Amino acid sequence: MNLAIVLGMVADGMADRVLLGDRTAGLTGAGLRERAAAGAARIRAESAGPLVYLGPNGPEFPVALFAAALAGVPYLPVNYRLGAEQLAEVMGRHADPLVVTDTPDRVPGARTIGLDEFMALPPAPAAEPDPDEDAVAVLLMTSGTTAAPKSAVLRHRHLAAYLFGSVEFASVPDTDATLVSVPPYHIAAVANALSNLYSGRRIVYLDRFSPGEWLDVVEEQRISHAMVVPTMLARIVTELRARGTEGPACLKSLSYGGAKIAPQVVQEALRLFPGTGFVNAYGLTETASSIAVLTPDDHRAAAGDSDPGVRARLGSVGRALPSVEIRVEDDEGRPCAAHVVGNILVRGPQVAGEYLEAGSRVRDDGWFPTRDRGHLDGDGYLFVQGRADDTIIRGGENIAPAEIEDVLGAHPAVADCVVAGVPDLEWGQRIGAFVVRRPGAEVDPEELRAWVRERLRGSKTPDQVEFVDEFPTTPTGKVLRRELVALVAEPDSAAL
Ligand code: ATP
Repeated sequence: MNLAIVLGMVADGMADRVLLGDRTAGLTGAGLRERAAAGAARIRAESAGPLVYLGPNGPEFPVALFAAALAGVPYLPVNYRLGAEQLAEVMGRHADPLVVTDTPDRVPGARTIGLDEFMALPPAPAAEPDPDEDAVAVLLMTSGTTAAPKSAVLRHRHLAAYLFGSVEFASVPDTDATLVSVPPYHIAAVANALSNLYSGRRIVYLDRFSPGEWLDVVEEQRISHAMVVPTMLARIVTELRARGTEGPACLKSLSYGGAKIAPQVVQEALRLFPGTGFVNAYGLTETASSIAVLTPDDHRAAAGDSDPGVRARLGSVGRALPSVEIRVEDDEGRPCAAHVVGNILVRGPQVAGEYLEAGSRVRDDGWFPTRDRGHLDGDGYLFVQGRADDTIIRGGENIAPAEIEDVLGAHPAVADCVVAGVPDLEWGQRIGAFVVRRPGAEVDPEELRAWVRERLRGSKTPDQVEFVDEFPTTPTGKVLRRELVALVAEPDSAAL
């Protein structure tokens, strides 16, 4: 199975259905194949290397994805907000690329083609596309939240396995439309393009997210589904509170994921979108997107149940997809019992676990270590604490930031908080808490330290509480802990 066959199914099965862009003037299934075939002909004529996409969110993105598949070259969407140096570094990793971009000056020396030109290429006869399912379909840079970004390798079979494990072909009404506002160089954008086109749901792209515009577009375009990252959902909730209204009733389902979300935000969102089904999706670039989901039914059950175990599931990422296995191990590789925190591993046909620079990190027994810590409950619901690399080691004691964040986040004056290890001469690391206060709330660091001390063991009390206006994040909403820590670390502590 490969993405060229997926395109053929979409184009044959939904030839006249508008799948990309405006309801009346957008690209149909047949139009998508025509544009992809024209793009593939151009790629074949020009280059043997990857097709790089350096542009904003828009219909050009899935056209380029399928054009690369038809031409049998990897598709590499690149962050168009990268600085010149980083961009040159990424481009230097690949031989003979062709770049689809409106900013050719940013990739000096590379062969380029403009976005408009790419979408208006003369039709080309559809070749006999049949890339090997083991061929590289997509190369994606990981976010680089904990280390330098790596190029994750996704082969055709991984993406096909994700697709067939998650959605049914042409299964949604032709009135359905989804609003995609995650950036094009993220796995969520690739997965969304594939799953929505395959199920027959029209995609509307919003390039620059603002909560106001997002709400207006949902309303005006009668959007039925949308996908956001947690910071976007938090901003949508704040915007609705400011407007004093509920979310648009046309929204049947709203997915969020890609980073940890504060349970308070989910609770608020459920209240403000009473008719909407929520989905929390957990996954990694290396696993070709979602491997576990908390479904709308799970959200409803957790929100309404009096059993604390069921209620707690609102803070989980749900259960493994049917074709995926998830397990939690201790540091010696022994499976952890339910509720015991350890290292999260995943196995299944969509798990790639491979990097261009470092080869495969999948173990011989097929399990891929996610580098996340967390636990399963007795019913298979997964609770993700965060990256193992974020664990604080204070005086030899391992401390999970998530545990302190959960307690601190429950303080009435705290709108949001992040806990991180700050280099410390005496302890190795001390516990730094970075707090965004609720508007108008009065609270001092000592009160927040006492709040945590009363609820957790004393050694988990933050040594330092800093108030900030907002957190530095990646474009996909991941908090850049390193930057927060740099705000308070002593200048000579980098050597620690
Ligand atoms: P790098 O590996 O370069 O540091 P990254 O890990 O941020 O980058 P991604 O593949 O974009 O790269 O992110 C995957 C990580 O995001 C997961 O390992 C997990 O820590 C987090 N994550 C994803 N979805 C969720 C979710 N629904 N809830 C909590 N955390 C999530």
